[in-house]
Amino acid sequence: MINNNNKSYFAGGLALETGLLPNAVLPSCSSGQDRHRLEAELTHCVYWSIPLSLLVVLICSSALLLILAETGLDATTLVGWYLAVLIMMLLRWQGYRRYTQAMVVSVPAGDWARYALIGAVVSGIVWGALPLLLWPAAQPQQQAAEMVVLAGISAGGAVTLAPLLPAALAFLWLALPPLVARLLFEGDTVSLYLAGLSVVYLLAMSAATRRMNILVETAFTTRYQREQAEAQVKQQAFFDALTGLANRRMLHERLQEEHARARRHGQRLAVHFLDLDNFKTINDSLGHQVGDLLLKEVARRLQGRVREEDLVARLGGDEFVIVQGVPEQAQDQAQCDIERLAQDVRRLVATPYRIQGHELHLSTSIGIAVFPDDGDSVEELMQHADAAMYKAKDAGRDAVRFFLPDMQAAALRRLDLVKALRAAIREDRLEVHYQPQVDLAGRVVGLEALVRWTHPEHGPVSPGEFVPVAEESGLIFELHDWIQKQVCCDIRRLQDQLGAAHCPVVSLNLSPLEFRRVGLVERLQETVRSCGIAPALLRLEITEGAAMENIEQVIPRMEAIRLLGIGFSIDDFGTGYSSLAYLKRLPVDSLKIDRSFVLGVLYDPSDAVLVETIINMAHNLGIATVAEGVEDEATRGFLAKRGCDYFQGWHFGRAQPLAELQPLLRAGGTLPAAALSR
Ligand code: C2E
Ligand code: CA
Ligand code: CA
Repeated sequence: MINNNNKSYFAGGLALETGLLPNAVLPSCSSGQDRHRLEAELTHCVYWSIPLSLLVVLICSSALLLILAETGLDATTLVGWYLAVLIMMLLRWQGYRRYTQAMVVSVPAGDWARYALIGAVVSGIVWGALPLLLWPAAQPQQQAAEMVVLAGISAGGAVTLAPLLPAALAFLWLALPPLVARLLFEGDTVSLYLAGLSVVYLLAMSAATRRMNILVETAFTTRYQREQAEAQVKQQAFFDALTGLANRRMLHERLQEEHARARRHGQRLAVHFLDLDNFKTINDSLGHQVGDLLLKEVARRLQGRVREEDLVARLGGDEFVIVQGVPEQAQDQAQCDIERLAQDVRRLVATPYRIQGHELHLSTSIGIAVFPDDGDSVEELMQHADAAMYKAKDAGRDAVRFFLPDMQAAALRRLDLVKALRAAIREDRLEVHYQPQVDLAGRVVGLEALVRWTHPEHGPVSPGEFVPVAEESGLIFELHDWIQKQVCCDIRRLQDQLGAAHCPVVSLNLSPLEFRRVGLVERLQETVRSCGIAPALLRLEITEGAAMENIEQVIPRMEAIRLLGIGFSIDDFGTGYSSLAYLKRLPVDSLKIDRSFVLGVLYDPSDAVLVETIINMAHNLGIATVAEGVEDEATRGFLAKRGCDYFQGWHFGRAQPLAELQPLLRAGGTLPAAALSR
């Protein structure tokens, strides 16, 4: 059968130009390539039956030679005709030989179909000539033998040539009509009946041939479609749809195989676990389309670097795995080879990208685990490479780390955090603390809600550590629901004590995942209603990335939330890729200048310029600015002079339980609600 190795053989077919295949019977073979393939299959069918049909022709023509030799027909004509049959057979045999060789060297299928047509025409003529040249007059038995052979040969020819309809019909209509003519010429009644029967036979054979042709084509087309569907299913099951790299399932299978092979041959096997460092920011700020193109380009670069026998897989998101076979060699040498690949990959990923007019910079953290040194099973290797990857992240990202046993401890800690955090949420063991935000006069106008958690064994864990872990594990939604409920209850308490008009605005941090979660607006509405709070007292902090991602969907969602009366603040402003044009369209009340810039305003001129620019820009757009991380008076003074509206930081107070803040709130004379706006 024709397999993939003969691809080029399908490619150059001339089916459409030669018109050898009737188009009407191919409703489902749509593309030109499909038709070429079909034509190749049909031609193949015809050529494959040549040896058998030659054998039959040899037997029939030889038998006929013997029968007709007794009839007193002209011996030269008889032998001449027999020779013509033999020459025709020789040529067809040659054609068959060439065809089988051509399957290796690839010749257009259309040419072969044409040769088959020529072959059919020539044999049709040779067999058609038989009753004209060699008719045993007045010898009914011999005539009958000739007619039987002719009918048999035509039936056989029609069947074997049926896949190429024009060839089959040409053969039939050249081989049989001369017999009809001969019978008509005889003139007696029986011959006339026989002539009539031969015409009926010819028509019936033609119709049957056409039916057979349709059946064969339909069978091939159906098989082809099934093969295509199977290939597609396989592609989807084992390959990543976006990048075309192996997916998790394929990785698992191949890794098992490679692992078994490495074990058998006493070789090493390296698993490189890659996680792109700042992909989320780019994806969130420039949108999924740019993110997808970027991932594709990363995949292309990775695939380009590894050897053919190595495997590159995408685990989903921005995680990739490279499986590298390491030939038998000394440990130092092996380590060198492995590290060289990892460093090359790291550099490749870090080379700037140009995508849709953006120049993008990316880096990757790579963790490596090597069999058998760092793990015996495939699962262990993957876990250890993952743990090493986290270590590379901790080391400042854009780094390569080999697995070390203590890394396992960190991975275990993450697992433990998820488990303990889930329990803490369910058992109400979290707390929300509030950090004051003050205006130029030092009055508390706002509070930022910051979640606090004390692990039963490890003590206090920073939200900077457990919030990302919650995001990764999907626990973030449960966590957020808990915080939102708690914050709204606390606002109700403040509202009751101070009166809505004198209550500070409370900012609630929203993870990008929560911001995208279905039903956000309804949940907020429900919490605000059930707690009975003035919606203007609640403000949502979303990061720049979350706000800029998919802006066309973000704006209506933000507007729906603002319709409820809830405000918005952009958190960590300056760290993402915000474009001014977008910012102008976002319905936000305040911008929080990221702590990393505030920290440097007094020492780093570029930070100072940046902060000043942000303040001016926000003011031009009618948006208030809040500086976060203000730790001393000098910084506050600098910011105040540059026009910053509000301040937050340890200089004014750390995040504390609400109860501890209440004296300050009662004494300080807070500003009316919505003070955090301009
Ligand atoms: P963030 O939203 O940027 O919160 C500000 C962080 O800066 C807080 O850290 C706060 O305690 C700290 N901070 C405030 N003033 C100063 C200062 O003057 N100096 C210094 N060095 N730090 C200051 P925290 O509470 O550890 O929170 C870290 C991050 O965890 C937050 O960053 C936020 O992204 C996340 N997070 C905290 N609470 C929540 C929450 O309730 N929900 C969600 N989704 N994320 C939260
Ligand atoms: Ca915040
Ligand atoms: Ca912040």
